[in-house]
Amino acid sequence: MTDSSFAISGASIEMKTQIGILGAGPAGLYLAHLLHRAGIDCVILESRSREEIEGTIRAGVLEQWVVDLTVQLGLGERMMREGHFHSGVTFQFGGQRHHIDMEELTSGKRVTVYAQHEVIKDLVAARLAHGGKIVFSVQDVQLHNVDGDQPKITYRVGGDTDELRCDFIAGCDGFHGPSRQAIPVVDRVEYQKIYPFGWLGILARAPASWHELIYSRHERGFGLLSTRSPEIQRLYLQCDPNDAIANWPDERIWAEMQLRFGYPGWTLIEGPIFQKNILAMRSFVCETMQFGRLFLAGDAAHIVPPTGAKGLNLAVADVLVLSQGLEAWYRRGTREGLDNYSPACLPRIWKGERFSWYMTTLLHLDETEGRFEQRVRMADLDYVVHSRAAMTALAENYVGLPFGN
Ligand SMILES: Cc1cc2nc3c(=O)[nH]c(=O)nc-3n(C[C@H](O)[C@H](O)[C@H](O)COP(=O)(O)OP(=O)(O)OC[C@H]3O[C@@H](n4cnc5c(N)ncnc54)[C@H](O)[C@@H]3O)c2cc1C
Repeated sequence: MTDSSFAISGASIEMKTQIGILGAGPAGLYLAHLLHRAGIDCVILESRSREEIEGTIRAGVLEQWVVDLTVQLGLGERMMREGHFHSGVTFQFGGQRHHIDMEELTSGKRVTVYAQHEVIKDLVAARLAHGGKIVFSVQDVQLHNVDGDQPKITYRVGGDTDELRCDFIAGCDGFHGPSRQAIPVVDRVEYQKIYPFGWLGILARAPASWHELIYSRHERGFGLLSTRSPEIQRLYLQCDPNDAIANWPDERIWAEMQLRFGYPGWTLIEGPIFQKNILAMRSFVCETMQFGRLFLAGDAAHIVPPTGAKGLNLAVADVLVLSQGLEAWYRRGTREGLDNYSPACLPRIWKGERFSWYMTTLLHLDETEGRFEQRVRMADLDYVVHSRAAMTALAENYVGLPFGN
């Protein structure tokens, strides 16, 4: 392994590493651990503080192969102890509940519910314990010479402008980061869909009301009941993406939840709400995901609405492919894996986009659609829960498609 080197010139710091990673989200952190396993040196630059990234509430559902990879990397000890392993999900519509047995339909695969910020805590702690370098709270990040042989990143921490020289840059800086903008507009094509609804998400201190996730399509809109721990529950309601959270006092939220999840003989257990927010939903893909020595991964290159629980899982899939390309470059001097990065990632990404779009349109009430389309959605739901073939297709996407198909 080549250690990162650094020199101090005046008050600025100049560092040199093999891979400069922008962003300590799931994409950046998994990449750093994969590179560490392969003996490749890297430095992560992150614009937020450690406390902020470890406190941001986002994803919760991990595909089986992501859990297996996490364990292989020696990072899964707490996940295996504290995560919840779900063998199925419940769909609720038309006053009925239907269990979809993912484990049985996919020959033994399950999903794991373990919050993204817990994954982040585990990966940051292990990275620092391995002597890895993460520079938090960087500002004014700029990418230079990405189409040349010696790219570099300049950034500020405090008052000084520091620089990181590297062989390659991994743009793992999310949808709003600067990496994607470093690819000239003429060299990328962007595909986007904005949905006319959003999600109001809450975290509540209460025991679990149901043993698995409930996806509810109701005449008042979609609802998702999910969990974080035996004491903390995560629930979502479809809402107007432009609504203000101030319009949603806790009593209104619980009243709406009771309507959307209501089921005879069953009780939705309420509790104090300690976090609530509204998020908009979009689907987005940037093609290409590479330019010169810059490679985009995760939300920097693609976004999905959270209904299919795919965003984090796709981010990890990207960096797995990227790490293999980088390993081939450093071990054998072959550039084929790197040159093939976008074509290798995009088929899986588009399948994740399709599934996330499908789950979203299937389960939400879209008032911009006509009554015909809404009846077709109901027919589709009825088909999904009664046809083994349709249920199997849904289950194999939900637990994670195999690689290479
Ligand atoms: C409500 C919700 C629920 C979700 N549920 C699921 C789920 O169940 N399963 C699932 O797989 N996915 C889910 N997702 C999606 C998932 O959270 C994202 O896809 C995932 O975080 C993407 O990881 P990333 O590392 O690519 O990007 P991010 O997590 O966005 O990380 C990017 C990092 O880059 C940093 N950054 C930004 N700009 C700069 C800069 N200039 N310089 C340096 N650093 C920078 C950011 O601070 C951030 O830490 C959900 C998302 C939401 C919002």
